[in-house]
Amino acid sequence: MPRDSDDPPAVGELTPPDRTLMGPGPSDVHPRVLRAMSTPLVGHLDPSFIDVMNEVQELLRYTFRTDNQWTIPVSGTGSASMEAAIGNLVEPGDTMLVPTNGYFGGRMESMAERAGGDVVHVDAPWGEPLDPADVEAAFAEHQPDVFGFVHAETSTGVRQPDVPELTRIAHEHDAYVIADCVTSLGGVELRVDEWDVDVAYSGPQKCLSCPPGASPLTLNDRAMEKVLSREEPARSWYLDLSLLEGYWGDERAYHHTAPITNVYALREALRLVAEEGIEARWERHLETAGALKAGVEAMGLEMNAPDEYWLPSLNAVRVPDGVEDGDVIDALLDGYDLEIAGGLGDLSGEIFRIGCMGHSARPGNVALLMSALGDVLERQGADVDVDAGLSATSERLG
Ligand code: PLP
Repeated sequence: MPRDSDDPPAVGELTPPDRTLMGPGPSDVHPRVLRAMSTPLVGHLDPSFIDVMNEVQELLRYTFRTDNQWTIPVSGTGSASMEAAIGNLVEPGDTMLVPTNGYFGGRMESMAERAGGDVVHVDAPWGEPLDPADVEAAFAEHQPDVFGFVHAETSTGVRQPDVPELTRIAHEHDAYVIADCVTSLGGVELRVDEWDVDVAYSGPQKCLSCPPGASPLTLNDRAMEKVLSREEPARSWYLDLSLLEGYWGDERAYHHTAPITNVYALREALRLVAEEGIEARWERHLETAGALKAGVEAMGLEMNAPDEYWLPSLNAVRVPDGVEDGDVIDALLDGYDLEIAGGLGDLSGEIFRIGCMGHSARPGNVALLMSALGDVLERQGADVDVDAGLSATSERLG
């Protein structure tokens, strides 16, 4: 729209509402992380920043449960670490096997195609994990070079079980495995080395409770060898790992100006992971999300995923009869400053997506969520037993 005056725009001071973030991300950011973001900038090649880079890499290895030398924060959101993984590993003419059981398998497909790859599918309905037998059959039929799967599908609230089984199948066929760990890293059991995952990527704004901007990525030597011996360069200059190696590897030479403040934030978020202990953190997510799940079930609602593949960091709860998902979501935001989300794609209108991630995975947040959700559902006409839900949750929270 053309501006009709040369006066400077009258934009007021920034005063965002004080939300409690229990949606699919971002999650509540820990105050220590916010404080780290207000510390002074240094240059991206300052010796003190090189120390920070080393510390972040070490903390990321701890959190991913890996010894991979090639473990870095990619500048950008989770989609940047995702595209760094796919765009570097997939070469023109390679075949990539991707899942169809959620929104982010579709994004893997788009990225693989843009990298010049041929895409083949392993199918499962939205809301279910991949069956290893189907993965085996897809390998026998298509012999893919790269296999991608989503460990924690944010669109459906499904945790992919049997990861070591999936990686075994892929490696028997000499393929590389890329795992999307955006909604699992730092919140749900994930063991990159023990499970033999070649490449894993994540985002900071979910179970690490850090603002988006610097996104974890790890590759083992085998994967990095494929990247470094590509016949033609990766199509993205910015995300070309053979160039990024100059900055994050031994040389520490300029490639692009790292988002210093986001790296500070990630460092503090990962320090919190290390202080808590990664296994204790997985356990905390199980306990707090378990209390949420027990509460919504006692209230009379139904989880979309059965217990075997329930994803504690993202709880998909079926929308009960008598209410519209959007009305409930709006009322929670307006009345309680509480953010949750609705379903996507095949599950649009059918589920609520309730995150329980990182600093948001706390008893106080779960108690607020339960009473607010119970109140809104009851007022909007759903048949729910709010008291039963609240007592099931408080019993579990102890
Ligand atoms: N993969 C999964 C499973 C996600 O949940 C998301 C974001 O929600 C992404 C990839 C992309 O991350 P971002 O939105 O930070 O780019």
